Amino acid sequence: MFGGQGIRVGRILGIPIRLDLSFFFVFALLVFLIATQVLPDSLDGLGGAERWLYGVVAGIIYFVSLLIHELAHSLMAKRYGMEVSSITLFFFGGVSLIREDSQRPGQEFWIAVVGPLASLILGAGFILVAYFALPSDSTVQRLVFALGVLNGFLAAFNMLPGFPLDGGRVMRSLIWRVTGSRHRATRASARLGQLLGAIMIIYGIGGLLTDAAIFSSGFSPIWVALIGFLLITQAAQGVKAAELERDLARLRVGELMLKPPIARMAEASLPVHILAPSRAQLDQQDVFIVSEGGTAVGITSAVQILLLEEERYLNDTLRDIMLEAGEVQPLEPDSGADEALRRLQKERTFVLPVVERGRLLGVVGLEQILKALGQGPSPRLDPSSGA
Ligand SMILES: [Zn+2]
Repeated sequence: MFGGQGIRVGRILGIPIRLDLSFFFVFALLVFLIATQVLPDSLDGLGGAERWLYGVVAGIIYFVSLLIHELAHSLMAKRYGMEVSSITLFFFGGVSLIREDSQRPGQEFWIAVVGPLASLILGAGFILVAYFALPSDSTVQRLVFALGVLNGFLAAFNMLPGFPLDGGRVMRSLIWRVTGSRHRATRASARLGQLLGAIMIIYGIGGLLTDAAIFSSGFSPIWVALIGFLLITQAAQGVKAAELERDLARLRVGELMLKPPIARMAEASLPVHILAPSRAQLDQQDVFIVSEGGTAVGITSAVQILLLEEERYLNDTLRDIMLEAGEVQPLEPDSGADEALRRLQKERTFVLPVVERGRLLGVVGLEQILKALGQGPSPRLDPSSGA
């Protein structure tokens, strides 16, 4: 399927692998460069078709190396108990979609650093094989050497210290460790990413406009500028995400949660179709606190009722569909909204119970968090507004 998420090509270690459309463009370019630039005419008396075949094989091996880089990130994340939704290969690299953010700087550090490390080891391996195991000046040696250089370049480029590159994430983990604040670390490393992107754009434009020696690195100036532009865009998103995270962390679950009478109380034995005789008329923002003999025992929401299969809608009681307070790790009133958001994502639920000393107080969902964010952090909570 074509779309924002790319074409799904398979699954490795339970992780779906996708190819973005831009991947095919870069793949074709890589094959072209290998066939026309890396392999000279005089070599082994290569014919035209053979060159292209070598190009395709080397291109595939390069993208397998890229996949190994991403798998390294993903497997480390899995080791920390995080769920990896997918790996997408695109443009000049890949992206591992990890469902949660790191909880500790150490996790962030290791997840970020293993990717470039994998590329570095692959690169060194290819170069060693090219030098010691292959006949010198042969086609295969040239290709394996080129693959070594590409992997080495991949490792070096990704370790540049600007978010969202791996090196920027390593930087973020270090700043996080020192300052103890994740959003500050994200903001600082994303600013470095923007600076790095700006330098690359200036460098690229300089290379296009002048012959000055400092601009002749051997890299195509257009590519340098383009990658710089992408970096700036993504780093800007990183800055925004950091600000969002800061705002979220300042909101308390206790202030956002819905509690009675806004959250309606309903008896556990009540059939769902009696509570909501017409699903079309349900207010999507409604949440319900389910009680048993006057004690709140669980929660459910209009969204959950809307998503029920017809049969369950007709036959189930609230007890059957409710999320029991003890079923998930509940939130506490003074947990931050960032924590609530993480937990909602992790539990893949629309609402979470808020519990204090074993007593179900209320319920909080995405709806309440977004609403509170829309109003912006209150002045009382934001002493440094405008910063
Ligand atoms: Zn990486």
